[in-house]
Amino acid sequence: MKAVQQPWYETQRIRDDLYCITEPFYCWENRANLWLIKGRDADLLIDTGLGVSSLKLYLAKLLDKPLKVVASHVHFDHSGSCHEFEQVFIHQNEHRALCTGDPQLILSAPELGFVPERDFDAIPYQGFSASDYEVRACPHAQALAHGDVIDLGDRAFEVMHLPGHSSGSIGLYNARRQQFFSGDVVYDGQLLDDLEDSVVEDYLVTMEQLLQLKTDEVRPGHYRSFDRRRLTELVRQYIDTRKAPLCPSEK
Ligand SMILES: [Zn+2]
Ligand SMILES: [Zn+2]
Repeated sequence: MKAVQQPWYETQRIRDDLYCITEPFYCWENRANLWLIKGRDADLLIDTGLGVSSLKLYLAKLLDKPLKVVASHVHFDHSGSCHEFEQVFIHQNEHRALCTGDPQLILSAPELGFVPERDFDAIPYQGFSASDYEVRACPHAQALAHGDVIDLGDRAFEVMHLPGHSSGSIGLYNARRQQFFSGDVVYDGQLLDDLEDSVVEDYLVTMEQLLQLKTDEVRPGHYRSFDRRRLTELVRQYIDTRKAPLCPSEK
């Protein structure tokens, strides 16, 4: 019998205006970083976790302004609690999937096997079973396009469409602070490009773009944060491992 754990979430205060929320009883390998940024006129939450326990209630004490919620992409470890919030945004390529709760693109369909019981060290409530897991539809989600701006009053984040991991993957970039929230586009671990909606060729184009990005603070969707030097290493590693088989003439 697994223990019920509440609160389900854990918060790390990085700075006064930046918090990282995680789900410590869910497996480390797929545990997402949910980023809360406190702006002057609005707060921004990037990603919402599995959705197995109310994130809105958990965050209530940290929120004192209107909240904008952005899903970096539609996969279940990032979009699970979107339905709880009022102002929710996702890239237009995955807008329909989030609005309808499409289990194939969300990767929550049981036959895909991405949410096994063993990935939970504890359970969020009595009677929870991973085999019943699903992400609730978020019919009120709004669609984002490349170049859109999420404005918090004292700072703004530009939406960068960075497909490859999934067709609607985005990063959020603050040019003034050179701060980049990367979702699953790049993190310091095994990058995934063989999922339902992954396209390696698109990923390679995305990675070339990231080599040009001016940032020294990358806040990823999984694992630890890193600097520009590590970003370049990770991006080059990916390009090196994937480019060769695609371009036989370059061998
Ligand atoms: Zn993902
Ligand atoms: Zn993920």
